[in-house]
Formats: sequence, structure tokens, C-alpha cells
Amino acid sequence: MQSFDVEVRGAGIVGKSLALSLVALGLDVALRGATTSRDDVRAYAMSPSSIELLRRLKVWDTLAADAKTAVHDMVVHGDTAAGVLAFSAWRQCVGELAVITDAGALERALDAALAGAAGVTRVDIDVEASLVAHCEGRAAATLAALGAATTFERSDTGQRAIAARVVASLPHRHVARQWFRSPDVLALLPFDRPERERSYALVWSLPRERADALLALDAEAFERDLAAAAGSEAGELSLASERAAWPLVVGGAAAWSGPGWVLVGDAAHVVHPLAGQGLNLGLADVAALAATIAAREPWRGVGDERLLRRYERQRAVPTWAMRQITDGLLRLFEASPAPIRELRNNGMALVDRVPPLKRWLTRRALDS
Ligand SMILES: Cc1cc2nc3c(=O)[nH]c(=O)nc-3n(C[C@H](O)[C@H](O)[C@H](O)COP(=O)(O)OP(=O)(O)OC[C@H]3O[C@@H](n4cnc5c(N)ncnc54)[C@H](O)[C@@H]3O)c2cc1C
Repeated sequence: MQSFDVEVRGAGIVGKSLALSLVALGLDVALRGATTSRDDVRAYAMSPSSIELLRRLKVWDTLAADAKTAVHDMVVHGDTAAGVLAFSAWRQCVGELAVITDAGALERALDAALAGAAGVTRVDIDVEASLVAHCEGRAAATLAALGAATTFERSDTGQRAIAARVVASLPHRHVARQWFRSPDVLALLPFDRPERERSYALVWSLPRERADALLALDAEAFERDLAAAAGSEAGELSLASERAAWPLVVGGAAAWSGPGWVLVGDAAHVVHPLAGQGLNLGLADVAALAATIAAREPWRGVGDERLLRRYERQRAVPTWAMRQITDGLLRLFEASPAPIRELRNNGMALVDRVPPLKRWLTRRALDS
């Protein structure tokens, strides 16, 4: 049986990016997972650090112009008129706050890069390797095989996220919009597919029963409920795709590495999509793991436990911080007593008036 330096198990965006990053270091990599990428109604808000990684992997610039749309402004609404928080790339002195990227197009661009990369072998069974990088995502069924070495603590939020594409009667003007309507969180991310300048990727997190009820509605009735939640700010919204839904769990593994194994991406941590940061955290893991392996002492193997712990230490704080922010926001907006409602909406208005705090929040989102 052929032996590899690394088996990357799981060929999602994180696994594919990791395989490309490791092969660029001259390692022999086996990538286990299906070769075909599915269409996906999701569009991801990609941070500048994620874009930089994908550019280094020669993937980013192959994406069609209408598969990536810059966000210049973001407006976050609370659940009273007072609670509004606005972010602007111009005010924060950055080119853009994020770039909304078509999930399916990104998967296909990674597949094309992998097809041209000598040193990556696609496999559909486990192989002999010095290091197994677990990138199986939140399902991560194979983590059970690691037994007591790691436990993944999950908590079911009781919510589902509905994703779809919608077309608006008004141009998006590169503005992302989000509504925290206890207990719903609704986001409209500006996008150029299917219609340039007028499309949005919708992500709507709701309690499970309400999400199921919305999914059961016909398009017209769904659009009526959407209009009631989003108001008229983005214009009239029409469904332009099927609706898909994901159960929302949040959590993380107690240990991310051990002798000959390491966890990367959603296999290590799952955050609520309200901040659009799950994939960004996963791609930051990829960059950190590749850099740690590249900087290893000549005598250290890629599966060396102490080496892998360096990666784990590097990623612990940013991942913990993002989990605190997303979990905290979720809890804050789940609570419905009137004094808490008032406090959170006044809090948003206050943050809006404190530029250094806004800059700090923007930096956290840009540097995940
Ligand atoms: C509605 C929604 C919107 C989101 N929006 C954003 C956003 O705007 N920005 C952002 O950064 N993040 C966002 N996220 C989070 C993002 O989707 C995830 O963080 C990201 O997809 C994780 O990538 P991954 O490769 O680690 O895992 P996955 O995408 O889950 O990929 C795992 C892969 O491993 C495969 N696999 C599973 N088990 C095995 C096995 N035993 N053997 C081999 N292969 C296996 C799976 O088939 C899959 O291909 C969103 C999530 C949701 C649900």
C-alpha cells in the first residue's frame, strides 16, 4: 500500500484548501472524499485573511466576477427602532468588510486547482499516512474512532438556518443587512447571482418549528413572511432558488490534536452562522497548520504531537473569542424580557457612537 505524509479526511472547502496548502510544501497528500462538488444555495462572507489564503493557492482569481461580491457597508438592526449599528469599509479604512462568495463556485474552483496539483491523490478509502487531518466537518462521525482522545461538545441551539437566493426590486449597493428579531436572525448578503446588483444570499435562523413551517409554505407565502421580517429597506424580495435548511449546533472539540492526528475546520469547532465566520475560522486553521508544518525542525515528522500542539495553541484564542462573541450575541437576542430588550437595543446604539469599539469589532471579524 502506498504511504503518504498526510491523509486529509473530508473534501469540503477546508479539506481541499488544506490539501493544496500541504502539497505546496512538497508533501505527499491523500485527499479522501467525493470528487464532485454539489451546488449549494449558500454564499459565504469571506474575510480578507481567507481571501489571501485562497489567492496564494491560486484559487481566488479563477472565480468569475459574479461569484464574488464586495460588501462595503453593513447595517445591523435590533428589535426596536433604536437598535441600529452601521459599519462602513470606508470609515474603517479597509477596501471591503467581506466578499460574498458562491459556495458551489468556490468548491469547483478548488477542485480545478486540485486536478492540476501534482502530489495530491484523491482516494476513497483510508490510507497509510504519518498524519491524518480530520476535515469531516460538523458530522465528523469518524471522530468517534479517536475514542477518548477527543470529545466534541455540542449544544443544539434548537434552531435551523434557512438559506436561499432572493432577487430584490432595489439595487443592493453592496450593503449587507442583518436583523436580530428575537429569536430570529435574518441576514441578506449582497450578491450578483442570479441578477447582477439585485440579488442577495439569504440566511434566516429560526426556532426549528417556525423554520419547518416556513419551508412548508409555497414561494408566495414565504415571500410575504420574509417581507414582514425584512421590511422594505431592500425593496421587494422574490425567491430565486430552492430553500435549503441546516440544523444549528454549536460547539467544539476538547482536544484538537494528538500523535498522528489533528482536527481542522468544523471538525474542531462549529459556530452559529450569525457572524458568518465558521468557514473563515476553518481557513485560518488551514493557514496556521500549514505554516506550523512548514516551520518544523528538520528532525520532526508531520505527525509529531508537539508540533501539532503548536498549531492547536495558535488557534485556541481566536476560536474561543469568536465562539464567545457569537454565543453571547445569540443569548442576548434570545432573551425577550422588556428591560433586556431595551438594554440590548440601547447598547447597539451606544456601540454605534463609539468608533474605537466599532473598529475593534470590525477587526475581530476581518482577522478571524
Ligand atoms: C446557513 C449557513 C451559512 C453559513 N454562512 C457562512 C458564512 O457566511 N461565512 C463563513 O465563514 N461560514 C459560514 N457558514 C459556516 C460554514 O458553512 C462552515 O464553517 C464550513 O462549511 C465548514 O467547512 P468544512 O470543510 O470544515 O466542513 P464541511 O463543509 O462540512 O465539509 C466536510 C466534508 O467532509 C465530508 N465527510 C464527512 N464525513 C466524512 C468521512 N467519514 N469521510 C470522508 N469525508 C467525510 C463531507 O461530505 C464534506 O464534504 C455557514 C453555515 C451555514 C449552515
